[in-house]
Amino acid sequence: MAPTATSSLSRRQCCVGLAALLGGLAAQGCSTVSPQEERQIGGKEAQEVEKTVGLVRDRRLVEYISSIGARLERAAGRAAIAWQWSVADDPEMNAFALPGGWVYVTRGLLALSNREDELAGVLAHEMAHVLERHAVKRVGAATPLAVLFGVPSGILGMVSPSLGAIVGGAGRVVSGLALAPYSREQELAADRIGIALAARAGWDPAALGGLLGTLERAEALSGGGAKRSFFATHPSTPDRVAKIDAVVGSLSRAPVAPITGSRAAFLGRLDGLVIGNNAANGVFMGQLFLHPDFDLALAMPANWKTGNSPEAAGAIAPGESAVVLLHLVGDGNDPVAGAKADGLADAQLERIRRVQSSPLPAAALTARTRHGTYIALTWIAHRSRIFRVTGVCAGADWERYRPEFERTAASVRPLRSDEEARIVQSRLRIRPARAGESIGELLARGGATWTPAQAALVNGVAPERRLDRDWPAKVAISERYRSQ
Ligand SMILES: [Zn+2]
Repeated sequence: MAPTATSSLSRRQCCVGLAALLGGLAAQGCSTVSPQEERQIGGKEAQEVEKTVGLVRDRRLVEYISSIGARLERAAGRAAIAWQWSVADDPEMNAFALPGGWVYVTRGLLALSNREDELAGVLAHEMAHVLERHAVKRVGAATPLAVLFGVPSGILGMVSPSLGAIVGGAGRVVSGLALAPYSREQELAADRIGIALAARAGWDPAALGGLLGTLERAEALSGGGAKRSFFATHPSTPDRVAKIDAVVGSLSRAPVAPITGSRAAFLGRLDGLVIGNNAANGVFMGQLFLHPDFDLALAMPANWKTGNSPEAAGAIAPGESAVVLLHLVGDGNDPVAGAKADGLADAQLERIRRVQSSPLPAAALTARTRHGTYIALTWIAHRSRIFRVTGVCAGADWERYRPEFERTAASVRPLRSDEEARIVQSRLRIRPARAGESIGELLARGGATWTPAQAALVNGVAPERRLDRDWPAKVAISERYRSQ
């Protein structure tokens, strides 16, 4: 049975359809994909990225990125492509593109850049992947991922492994097409074409090599291994930067002034950028999940591993034998009506019961699937929204986990003001240096969350370097969260 038909479920089914479509296209060879089909494929994936990763809505920042993009578009001279420039709300350092012209840079990568030329270099590199239709050519690699995430078996599709991706701390269920790796040949081609584009548009073509070096050091400093990092999807080669350096001298650079002419002007565009996880998606304080914008708190079971994404907050039991998830499923004030709108069939609606002991209006249903999996579903109405708490485990574990599922659903309540006051968010701020101080001394003036090694890397300076007076340094400052 499939007790629910949520928006996320229908997206996953759509994802499978897309994978099948792409698989078919790959078998035929990419020459059969028309620009219209590319646009259609990219558009569907772009919706997926927006839902699962999220976009940064700061209009000023997006306009700035788009203005860099517009210059690159003119240099590329492919008027038929409707380019779309976005900042992905992702703390990982990455950039990616979709067929048809959607280009994304993450806020993690933005925070790491120190010059407009670096940003232009990485955007041009992504453009090159689109221009060369690399994504359409790599669908063979993307298909298994999409199928993996698209298990079309109702709510079971949300259990491992996609669920593992949500609650495993790795982040979210990512778009298979957006984040499938390119081949090394495609990567080198995108470097070559991208730096030529950047130079034609007036930027320093060598800057991409510099940013790749910073990315490598940043991954080394963080211990590496991030699944969605730049090098996970854009494979590095030992000679990649050398290959860039070897050709930059031969490229002619248009005599155009950059949009931001100084370090201070460039960094000014990044001021306020969220660093690390976005508290707008909710935060965990121990096992307690707090969502400031929804005015909602939920206690996950003790000792379960927790994680959250823009789509869901979840926890997985030790041994991965059970999972509990919190989703926003719709609007309304009646949990039974909310369950119906969530896709519950009439026969199941007859079995739903209102929960009297819950602090908020709630209705619950338990169900057993054909595969012997048990599901505990609770719909909760709060502040004109309907939330669903879903517990899933094997039939043999039901008696053991059912109390945990019920306790978790019953724990949903409004935030307390002291909890709300404790929700903080790191943001990138620009701090002018005092004459002769090191980056460590600048941080020691207070409020900053990066270590001296991290701050030195992010700012592109040696830790021991004595800074000039008023030299603009990027710092991550922990601030009280405020709804946008
Ligand atoms: Zn690439």
